[in-house]
Amino acid sequence: MNPPTETPGLSVPEAQASVLARVSPLDVEEVRLEAALNRALAEEVSANRDLPPYDVSAMDGYAVRAADIEKTPRILQVIRDIKAGDTPDFSLLPGQCARIMTGAPLPPGADTVVRVEDTRPLANDEVEFPIPVKAATDIRFCGENMRQGEIVLNPGEEITPGTIGVLATVKRATVKVFRQPRVAILSNGDELEDLHEPFDPRKIPDSNSYALMAEVQALGIEPVLLGIARDKPEELAASIKRGLEYDVLLISGGTSVGVHDHVRPTLAALGVEIHFWRVEMRPGHPVAFGTSGGSKVFCLPGNPVSSMVCFEQLVLPALRRLMGHRRLFRRTIPVRLAEAVKSKQGRVEFVRTTLTRDPAGDYVARPTASQSSGDILSMMQAEALLVVPSGQNGLAAGARTEAQLLEAAIWQDAPDTENCAAET
Ligand code: AMP
Ligand code: MG
Repeated sequence: MNPPTETPGLSVPEAQASVLARVSPLDVEEVRLEAALNRALAEEVSANRDLPPYDVSAMDGYAVRAADIEKTPRILQVIRDIKAGDTPDFSLLPGQCARIMTGAPLPPGADTVVRVEDTRPLANDEVEFPIPVKAATDIRFCGENMRQGEIVLNPGEEITPGTIGVLATVKRATVKVFRQPRVAILSNGDELEDLHEPFDPRKIPDSNSYALMAEVQALGIEPVLLGIARDKPEELAASIKRGLEYDVLLISGGTSVGVHDHVRPTLAALGVEIHFWRVEMRPGHPVAFGTSGGSKVFCLPGNPVSSMVCFEQLVLPALRRLMGHRRLFRRTIPVRLAEAVKSKQGRVEFVRTTLTRDPAGDYVARPTASQSSGDILSMMQAEALLVVPSGQNGLAAGARTEAQLLEAAIWQDAPDTENCAAET
């Protein structure tokens, strides 16, 4: 028999803790740098040389002895040209300077650089310095960016384009990363029609398989779609058995208490240990999590929005931990509500919102037109999930709370480079 529905489920943080207590980073593998983007680093990486390896010019200009241009205007003799990659085999003597390019090594004797814009060329390889320039100007000193042996990256670090640049700088053609989890996705329900099945106007299109696929792909993982299992225990059991061969199995639909909701009893019959069922959140209340050997099973509600919101709260941190990432959660930002929202005390409400900025620069969250858990359009429109804490009974217009940024939130229409709200 099903447990009585009044028994309260776990809070979202409790459910997250229960999941995270049962997942740890997968094994380590070595990949080529070209294939490392978005993975989590599994080793400490240190610099293999000083950078720059010697003092270099930060500008196109002249390498000079600062003492020579203490009193200006002053005319110096240009004795050489130095470009990046040269090794100067001479020293600057008093009264001399060398034409130098950005990134080129300073010759012995020189202790400052004067930008070409601050000089005046004369005939006979002479150049005039109209203004004094202090020693050590426009020089990038040996080791100022990184020192040989210095740790530049730690395990668990996200491999971003910037990280790739650092790894290439320290000459890592291959890097150790955590293996990606293998993820399977299964939909469940007699009413469902697969994307590739013939159109039947009475059926419900299986969107969950594909929306969840995309959530997983956004992490850089290519999941396997197991298709649709019908509401028959034997058929469901066969599909679930296949799914248990993966590191993570996501099942949507059939997790509730309806007489045709066979997912949890079938999992139990297959020996999957269920650690929790139901979480005090909305949408997404009837969600379950279980383990079987090394396999983690998430039973997500069938409603398209609920399955995605549950993915965001519970599956995403688990996948990120399996991938070896240190940062597991979506970034949250403080927002002000444009209009009142309802919620049920005792449950966290995740409200789909768009985001705009007011003239003061604060983010304003505006709920999408529909908050129905069946309305996938609202999930498409959402840039963030606004969090109404469980202790609240709704929030009034103007109230401040946090919002979890979704993939859609990182892009905007126009650059703000010139009119950003910088305080001066
Ligand atoms: P269930 O959790 O099986 O009770 O399903 C709840 C609601 O979600 C029902 O209206 C289902 O038709 C719908 N639903 C279940 N699975 C999917 C799916 N894969 N894609 C779209 N809608 C679904
Ligand atoms: Mg169903």
